[in-house]
Amino acid sequence: MHPQPNLIDALDTLSPETLIAWDKTYVWHPFTPMKQYLASEPVIIRRGQGVKLEDIHGNWYYDGTSSIWLNVHGHNVPELNAALEAQLRRIAHATMLGQANVPAVALAKRLIEVAPPGLQRVFYSDSGATAVEIALKMAIQFWANQGWRSKRYILGFTNNYHGDTLGAVGVAPDPLFHWPFLDLLPGHPRAPYPYPHDRLAESLEAVEHVLRTRHHELAALIVEPVEGAGGILPAPAGFLRALRTLCDRYQVLLIIDEVATGFGRTGRLFACEAEGISPDLLCLGKGLTGGYLPLAATLTTERVFEAFLGEVEERKTFFHGHSYTGNPLGCAVALASLELLLQRLPSLPAKVERLRAHLAPLSEHPFVAELRQAGFMVGIEIVADRARRTPFPYGAQVGFIVARHARRRGMLVRPIGSVLIFMPPLAATEAELEEMTTILKAAFEDALPELERLAQNLQPNV
Ligand code: PMP
Repeated sequence: MHPQPNLIDALDTLSPETLIAWDKTYVWHPFTPMKQYLASEPVIIRRGQGVKLEDIHGNWYYDGTSSIWLNVHGHNVPELNAALEAQLRRIAHATMLGQANVPAVALAKRLIEVAPPGLQRVFYSDSGATAVEIALKMAIQFWANQGWRSKRYILGFTNNYHGDTLGAVGVAPDPLFHWPFLDLLPGHPRAPYPYPHDRLAESLEAVEHVLRTRHHELAALIVEPVEGAGGILPAPAGFLRALRTLCDRYQVLLIIDEVATGFGRTGRLFACEAEGISPDLLCLGKGLTGGYLPLAATLTTERVFEAFLGEVEERKTFFHGHSYTGNPLGCAVALASLELLLQRLPSLPAKVERLRAHLAPLSEHPFVAELRQAGFMVGIEIVADRARRTPFPYGAQVGFIVARHARRRGMLVRPIGSVLIFMPPLAATEAELEEMTTILKAAFEDALPELERLAQNLQPNV
């Protein structure tokens, strides 16, 4: 055999024009209106270093989304690279169906050591959505294995988001995004999320009403500690604790989706620590590998696990798995990332407060209705009229106007609807956080004339 030239090094010789043409000819992007994308000047990333990304033209940008909420320690991190390379020399992948691999075993033990108390078992998968699917199916089968076939509904919250597979969509349908699928969904009940916080009592009353009247057909309740994709809406103190109590009272399992909030994103290792409670099922993804590789996990208790033990013909087994479940490369990086994160945790509260201070002036911006922050998760809600809270129409894509200016100034951010989401990597230094927020504030200033024009067009003619 002839030695092959390194295919990846060879990609560096491709011109930006070629890469852009190939992207526009062959690729279909997630959550992206492709008609508009094809007409745009795309960002194609070539490399990353620390909290910055370089595109194929040689422009460097701050990674203001943590590469969609998952990067923890920055890019090209020596410790993570070393773990990945070391594992690569051993094996890249081996199945977990009926067997194990060394990093997957070691990571499961380590996760259980740091997870909220009571969680004892780790079931791996490869994305946040699959971690959620697994929790939903485990909850339903937990009851079915004990003869409770009626307990097959899941209580969810309005405006929560749990991923894009149909099971996850079923517990969090969104009329805007999921309209073609709505009548395929099982009709799970939903309660209002307690935001603003003075709606806590109302929300808990609604939850209790559903639990009281339908507990015999409810397998579980699923909740996000902070509504992430809903626009960064943190739940009030006491909410998760109250849900824990209600779930216990009515014999319904509690699933906490920490795909976005886990691994330090709110300033603690897991958001539910702040409430001193443990769920029956905990969904993890995103930051698990520090943002390196697609690995996710659903953690559960020994009580749930034991309901799946039985003779083979009883069919109590959890017949669920993915080809790349427990991928050794992902698990090796996750082990290294977790150790780095544990060292980093004490530095986070000070950074969170610096971030809050730097961002504060933005809440005075004439088109900002609210600035919300949960640790390193920031949502800036843009409205046409602050006093009346009148939204801009969806088609105006006002978040993207600000994001375009931020990109021009050297930071990539991405809105959800009219909420600009800013999610810096946890590794950002205080100086980097200051620079990133300076860009963000300037981008909001740059957007002012365009927002004013759009708002004026909304005024009824007099
Ligand atoms: N749950 C939550 C709370 C999320 O924020 C997300 C992704 N933003 C998911 C689930 C789905 O994760 P993934 O995109 O990895 O499927």
